[in-house]
Amino acid sequence: MTLTPGFLGSPIDRLEQLRYDPQVIEALAANPAALLLDLADYVPALDSAGHLMWSPLPRKPGEELALLGMLDGIPRFAHIAPDATGASRRQELFDLFERMAPGEAATYAAARSLLDWHARHRFCANCGTLTRVFRAGWARHCPHCGAEHFPRTDPVAIMLAEHGSGNDARVLIGRQPRFPAGRYSALAGFVEVGESVEEAVARELLEEAGVVTTSVRYLASQPWPFPSQLMLACIATVKEDVVTLDMTELEDARWVNRAEVRAALAGEPGASFLPPPPYAIAHTLFQAWVEGA
Ligand SMILES: [Zn+2]
Repeated sequence: MTLTPGFLGSPIDRLEQLRYDPQVIEALAANPAALLLDLADYVPALDSAGHLMWSPLPRKPGEELALLGMLDGIPRFAHIAPDATGASRRQELFDLFERMAPGEAATYAAARSLLDWHARHRFCANCGTLTRVFRAGWARHCPHCGAEHFPRTDPVAIMLAEHGSGNDARVLIGRQPRFPAGRYSALAGFVEVGESVEEAVARELLEEAGVVTTSVRYLASQPWPFPSQLMLACIATVKEDVVTLDMTELEDARWVNRAEVRAALAGEPGASFLPPPPYAIAHTLFQAWVEGA
């Protein structure tokens, strides 16, 4: 079975190997065909076919740019705004993901996480000096202490706890108070320093639901650009189906069987819960479990 989580499959060649040569980057930016990603407060513009929109690259002295890469032989950039604030999560944006052509959400996600990181990491974490963009916009350098800072990716374990097997198999779903009415999802939590993915899965399931994990299998991953997580999807086998809920994390959790998950994914009117949106890896996780991964 092929799993296709959201925010994957960008058609852009990132040109990572060229980021070390400022002259090459300057030449790419000077290319009259070079394009800039259209963004307004981190919200992209889409054409009628669901493709991201791009504009000719304006050349302003001292302007900070991030090289997103090469697409169709044309260098693609994003503007690093020196006075930008961190990105917000507007509902308008989530509606756009439903309309985006394949791969476009991945291009957007990389640009969004990168620009948002620049906006929130302007000063050196080591000495507090204002830092400068380098490596074609994929890092910041401190002119005072020489420290180099790179965009973060924070690992998050997201998991379905599974109890029973065959026709009796059920998985644990939970809802956070901020979810839309009726929505349930997989449980999730940040992987902490000094912890493996498997250990994080077991710890989170014990903390949030009081269930003891006996084994963990990894399924797939996806970048999540709000602001910059790497979601690691797993299925955990657990010892017992008795749940002790941590009410600070979840307002409800319950066990559902394959028929219930299938009905939810199909959007059937009688479904017992509303599933996560298709671009979230929790959706992929549900799909994989229903299909017997
Ligand atoms: Zn410094």
